[in-house]
Amino acid sequence: MGRLSPTFEGDTVVVTGASSGIGRAVALAFADAGATVLNADVREEPKELRSDGSSLRFPHDEATFTTHAETPTHELAEERGATAEFLECDVSDPAEIEAVVEHARDYGGVDVMVNNAGIHISKRFREVRPDDLRRVHEVNTYGAFFGTQLAAEDMISRGESGTIVNTASTTMGVAEWEHSHYATTKGAIRMLTRSAALELAGHDVRVNAVAPGPVATEITEGWSERAGAVDAGDTDQPTLPLRAATPDELPGAYLFLASEDASFVTGETVWVDGGDHVC
Ligand code: NAD
Repeated sequence: MGRLSPTFEGDTVVVTGASSGIGRAVALAFADAGATVLNADVREEPKELRSDGSSLRFPHDEATFTTHAETPTHELAEERGATAEFLECDVSDPAEIEAVVEHARDYGGVDVMVNNAGIHISKRFREVRPDDLRRVHEVNTYGAFFGTQLAAEDMISRGESGTIVNTASTTMGVAEWEHSHYATTKGAIRMLTRSAALELAGHDVRVNAVAPGPVATEITEGWSERAGAVDAGDTDQPTLPLRAATPDELPGAYLFLASEDASFVTGETVWVDGGDHVC
């Protein structure tokens, strides 16, 4: 089968949370496509998966789980010939996102913003406390909201078109055990994407999102044995039509949405989930 290969030569792409997991794969794919890539993350080093993935017992799981290489994302991108930089940034603080966007001016300004950084804390609905809800919204929702707003302001003030891609999740539309607080952030990101797309379309800024299903990253490591399936006592039932993904299966959707190939696509959230949401 063929492959789409959008090019981003001369573009500056900010990816939040690109030190590991999905963000790392997305940043490297943009780097391979010719972009200058800025990784905005709270820490520089990739996280090591503490296991070979065997703790992720998704039924019918055939994913190959890889241990993250220790080379930081921007160094790996540079080794592949791209210009890349790590910028320490906590996306829960809009001032820190603003500093990243300002720094991107050194490279001509943000052409593509990927608001991807996110956290998850496994807790049953009845156990979620105000601090849990606050923190997950500060990182996931505020991070994406102000990442979208600040990148758009930069694009508009420079008189440039631009594209923004947010990372949602299948939990934006599918209830999962131990995901109630997290799901509220991803539902918010879906509506942020639609709302911002509406108000930014006239400025030639498109806003879309990707909703990944289960991907083997550090964030999913604690999700062993899907709690709902365990409670229902039917762990033998397949709950994923395909399987869990590796991070490398995600970037295609991000690059497509950010590219000119998607010039008529805005306000959309694309499920990239192995069919998780259909069952
Ligand atoms: P990950 O833990 O490997 O990567 C998350 C990255 O975000 C890390 O590099 C981390 O340091 C960074 N980060 C965390 N808090 C931050 C903050 N306050 N400011 C800046 N950076 C911060 O996990 P991942 O699976 O790659 O997650 C990436 C995104 O994908 C998240 O938004 C997550 O909710 C979403 N997602 C993941 C899955 C999955 O199955 N892995 C499924 C759906 C959605």
